[in-house]
Amino acid sequence: MEFAARIAERAALKNPATKRITILGSTGSIGVSTLKLIREASEDFDVECLTAHNNVSLLAQQAIEFSAKRAVIGNASLYETLKQALSGTGIQAEAGEEALIDAAGTPVDWVMSAIVGAAGLAPTLAAVKTGATIALANKESLVCGGDLVLDNVKKCGATLLPVDSEHNAIFQVFDTHQTEMVERLILTASGGPFLNLTRADMRDVSREQALAHPNWDMGAKISIDSATMMNKGLELIEAYHLFPVEKDQIDILVHPQSVVHSLVEYRDGSTLAQMGSPDMRTPISYALGWPNRHAFKAQKLELGKIGTLTFMDPDFERFPALRLAKSALKTGKSAPAVLNAANEIAVDAFLKGRIGFLEISETVEEVLNKIDFVTFNEIADIFEENRRVRAYTQTALEQRS
Ligand code: NAD
Ligand code: MG
Repeated sequence: MEFAARIAERAALKNPATKRITILGSTGSIGVSTLKLIREASEDFDVECLTAHNNVSLLAQQAIEFSAKRAVIGNASLYETLKQALSGTGIQAEAGEEALIDAAGTPVDWVMSAIVGAAGLAPTLAAVKTGATIALANKESLVCGGDLVLDNVKKCGATLLPVDSEHNAIFQVFDTHQTEMVERLILTASGGPFLNLTRADMRDVSREQALAHPNWDMGAKISIDSATMMNKGLELIEAYHLFPVEKDQIDILVHPQSVVHSLVEYRDGSTLAQMGSPDMRTPISYALGWPNRHAFKAQKLELGKIGTLTFMDPDFERFPALRLAKSALKTGKSAPAVLNAANEIAVDAFLKGRIGFLEISETVEEVLNKIDFVTFNEIADIFEENRRVRAYTQTALEQRS
């Protein structure tokens, strides 16, 4: 009941006519999709701040088009380039991690958290501390930060709206007034580009093959996570933190068409699903308009043309990342943060051609087996552990080669 009351109370409080907006990671796949929606309804939104890491030309172009007040480039060496690109516009140019955190922590109504990886944790927390409504795409911050992030959300009166399509689907069909009647959350997974490959066939897949997701057009890291199915593993942990369910009440179902975005099974035998074309603008739009729906020119879902929807249980043998994530969730403590840090380093090594595809999950498993899990007492512990595990994984990879 507390969960339901909290959601309703915030919905009433937090829907101003014009929303002041900040987008953390505006040049990425989610950031660009968010701006596409804002472009269609520019009178409803005021863009306060946009941030990016390296893509200074796109950041400047976006800041000018949307008349942002402030643009922040994470990579401090690009400050002069940004400053020059914005000269004469009146838009404030800033650079570096401190500026990023400061921008994220400047009060607005709505923040899109769309930085990739654990790098999104500090800025997301800074936004949480302002009590804003946060559209959360950056699943890694919740995987690493878990309960401590949620404690801050509660303490600061912030609202987290799930943008990940599966969690957004669950959010749309979750009966907040009868949480005790929920039997199971069922996260759907496309299965990625290698759904039908054997382990032997996966050994030599290329970077390009792994990046070519059959249904979704996404950033590089999440595309590789989808190919290993670590993405679904991270989402399992994310779902546990976002919804009031126990760890064993979340299941995964492979659904190659990515039409049913996830389901909630109730104790009376009803199972509710949210469906749509695989386009991230739908969940982003839901978060932008929440608690109202926000109309945009979405691609219609034409089930008659699609014809057949198929479902199957996941294969934990061919996709060991699923097993590792499930076990990290069960173990708790720092295990999910260790899983995430090792995975980020391994995915980066794969993208740079240093390791093969199967070595991604092998590396994560090796690190999980070697590291002793700790209890996080404060946020600083998470940052420290993230740094330590990333360094440990780098060394482990160097020793491999
Ligand atoms: P992306 O790689 O396309 O974009 C990432 C953004 O983060 C860019 O703007 C980049 O400049 C910024 N960034 C990268 N490293 C940074 C750093 N160290 N410091 C500050 N900024 C940094 O990624 P994406 O696909 O848009 O995904 C973003 C997040 O949303 C990820 O957590 C991903 O798991 C999640 N997500 C994405 C999708 C999708 O369809 N793309 C769907 C669901 C969830
Ligand atoms: Mg997802």
